[in-house]
Amino acid sequence: MNRRDFVAQGSAFIGLSRNDAKSFVRDTLSNITSSYTTTKPRFESITEHVGVYRDVVNVGVVRSGSKTLLIDSGDSSILQDAKHLHIESIDRVLYTHYHRDQCSGASRLKGAHIDVPATEAKLFTNATEFWLEADVILDHRYDFRPEIMVLRESVAIDRELRDGDILHWEGIPIRVMATPGHTDGSLSYFVEADGKSIAFTGDLIYGPGQIWEFYSLQKRFPGMDGDYWGIGGAVLDLLDSIKVVGAHNPAMLVPSHGEVMRNPENALTLLHSQLEQVMQNYLTLSAWRVSKRNGVQIFKEDAPPPFDVPMFEQLAPVDLPKWLHRTVGTSSYIVAEDNSMFLFDCGFNSIVEAVNELVGSGEISGVDAIWASHYHDDHISSINTVRRRYGSKVYVQREMQDILENPTAYCMPCLFPESIHVDHALAEGEQFHWKGYEMTAYYFPGQTLYHAGLLIEHDGTRVFMTGDAFGNWAIGDVCSYNRNFIGEDGETHGSERCLRLLLKLKPDLLYAAHWGPIRFSQKYIEKTLDILRKREAMLTALLPWDDANFGLDPYWIRAYPYRQSIFPGQKVLLEARIYNHSDAACGASVELCAPQGWQVESSGSITIPAHAEGAIRLAAIAPTNPPTRRQVLGLTAHFCKRRLGEIAEAIVDYRQPDTASPPSTA
Ligand SMILES: [Zn+2]
Ligand SMILES: [Zn+2]
Repeated sequence: MNRRDFVAQGSAFIGLSRNDAKSFVRDTLSNITSSYTTTKPRFESITEHVGVYRDVVNVGVVRSGSKTLLIDSGDSSILQDAKHLHIESIDRVLYTHYHRDQCSGASRLKGAHIDVPATEAKLFTNATEFWLEADVILDHRYDFRPEIMVLRESVAIDRELRDGDILHWEGIPIRVMATPGHTDGSLSYFVEADGKSIAFTGDLIYGPGQIWEFYSLQKRFPGMDGDYWGIGGAVLDLLDSIKVVGAHNPAMLVPSHGEVMRNPENALTLLHSQLEQVMQNYLTLSAWRVSKRNGVQIFKEDAPPPFDVPMFEQLAPVDLPKWLHRTVGTSSYIVAEDNSMFLFDCGFNSIVEAVNELVGSGEISGVDAIWASHYHDDHISSINTVRRRYGSKVYVQREMQDILENPTAYCMPCLFPESIHVDHALAEGEQFHWKGYEMTAYYFPGQTLYHAGLLIEHDGTRVFMTGDAFGNWAIGDVCSYNRNFIGEDGETHGSERCLRLLLKLKPDLLYAAHWGPIRFSQKYIEKTLDILRKREAMLTALLPWDDANFGLDPYWIRAYPYRQSIFPGQKVLLEARIYNHSDAACGASVELCAPQGWQVESSGSITIPAHAEGAIRLAAIAPTNPPTRRQVLGLTAHFCKRRLGEIAEAIVDYRQPDTASPPSTA
């Protein structure tokens, strides 16, 4: 079966059981990917003057006489093959978008004229400055456009290209078309050569009905105040771009990732319908729509939902048991007979005022303990203030301990950059008693991977604290960058794990941090699981990986620690952490790429078991006279024979020699 036939059956997967669909896709894809990565020659001729060179991305190669024009350049490994390909000089390079996998080798193309999308030009010319200023987006991150897959250092450019421009390169017309979606400024290039219109479409499409990854589509829906809640929001732009490209009737589509498509109409139509199906599925359960109904301020202005899909009926409001109190922001609390308080979540300044008031009025004696549902700033940013004043002990699920204690080792949304010491790291199912209350701790990775749930039993009532994983009745997978996984395989997974836990525990009430209490409903949980199973089949058809989570998880390859401070000349130690979402063990290798003046000491490879995270240790020595106060290292990865280019980065800040000794680096 060829790729097109295989993907044409994509919508049929929805009728299969999840496991059938997964194994079918896996078997079929393993044939396709192995031919893509190993047996295919690196250069494929498309027409007499146009071809594709397989770098980290597909590089378009247009030739006229002794001159060559490239579309994207990957890490510029075409330079090594230039002689063999009879390329005398690279005259010009057109970039479809700013992501590092398209252009990490741009600075090696000496003498070439570099053209980039006008709206993304600064991300090329001011990349160094982008990273110097990046703390403002890394801390308390609620926006994702531009995504931080930006070059590590600036490159000079020659021309900014805009929608509608027509280039005449050596007599070959190239039409420039704005095709936003994957990034806001993405351009497609229609090369009119050898009697054909060949469209180089960047990451608009991977193959018939498919895209390379889903997380880049995180973008505010119309009217939203921030990208954080807009899971798949850029699908709206992408659907328009698909129509624009289709309307110009290209003979072929050349994607940045994937194979050349010779039936563009079929490929684009299938993608359009698969994207619509996926978005309808997401919006059936999206908690931001519940926020909207409950008046949480995530909208600047009201706008109708982008896809007309109904949600579950809301359940009737319920009263809290009289021992559980809702207070300001995301917080709630219980009080013991000695008037001390156990506080659940502690995020906004207003909670500090509320606690002080309760103490001032004599209603409570102090805050004995704090439990945090997850690492987001709106749930933890006042913990240090409260504990300093009241000596509170902090209880946290063990899966969250490191991100609270070492937040800058992570690149995650809504990150509070100050370390919070954890007094008690809770194990899965750990029971503890607090002054007459019985509690059981659970890992609960619904909204994000770093999230917990807590069962509180008192006075004959069982309340499960769900943090941000639930609204009434919706689930919290609002942001791809939170890392919420689909499916139920392996140790770590998302909402399905949470739902199955609730089915097992059958608490009386679910208490959501932002939304308050709802009654446990077996019927709603089963309906939700059914929607998630369909979602997994749809995403497996949409994404060209043997497990959809590779296309959902932006940090499946990441640097740990993400940020660190060192003295000039010091050795930097870090790890490439790789989460293998596949059902099969996979080989991975990582190289460290460093700016000039660095001495890279190690690279490494590893085999990572199915559904497990592996780590490769890396080391490099920083220059003694760095040119800037911050530099960025790149992690170039191969995984299961796929070349992924500089898929992750790590930030190194230089300390002044007269400051205190730096913290440990790994
Ligand atoms: Zn990209
Ligand atoms: Zn929250």
